[in-house]
Amino acid sequence: MIEPSIEDVMNRSERDIVIPAEMVATVNENNNLQHVFLVLSKIKYSKIPVLDNDNHFKGLISLAMITDQMLTNEGIDGHRLENLLVKDVMQTDVHAIYERENLEVILRYLVDENFLPYIDEDDVFKGIITRREILKEINFLTHNYDKYYHAESNHVVI
Ligand code: AMP
Repeated sequence: MIEPSIEDVMNRSERDIVIPAEMVATVNENNNLQHVFLVLSKIKYSKIPVLDNDNHFKGLISLAMITDQMLTNEGIDGHRLENLLVKDVMQTDVHAIYERENLEVILRYLVDENFLPYIDEDDVFKGIITRREILKEINFLTHNYDKYYHAESNHVVI
């Protein structure tokens, strides 16, 4: 459990930890890999969310997953990408966040991931929570904690 005073101070920051869906670069699960390779090469993100036609979150696709498909015993074959769809190679075992207030779970998952998809109870994609935004929150906490609480040390000085 997160110390309630810590959670309270973080909740006082005006900042929104969620980057809303309309600001997030996504691809459709039925796009072919050649298209997505071009998209990922143009934008600065190497991994982005995958959605279906009704904006449900389906998984994540990365440049590494795509280049992996180009490798053959003879070398690199980009033509293979034309015949593969995002849904054939995307990562589906993804930790998604349903409750944005659940800081404990968010922090735990962000240890291993750069970002987490934020979705509603019907799996509709609402946005992402990134390590960067959470670090800004922690920065706020470290600079503002003493405005709201006084920490007392339990250490006995000998
Ligand atoms: P950041 O913490 O801002 O570097 O973002 C971490 C990761 O989240 C990036 O490497 C991307 O995979 C993903 N990401 C962040 N912002 C966006 C965005 N606007 N659209 C798509 N993916 C994003």
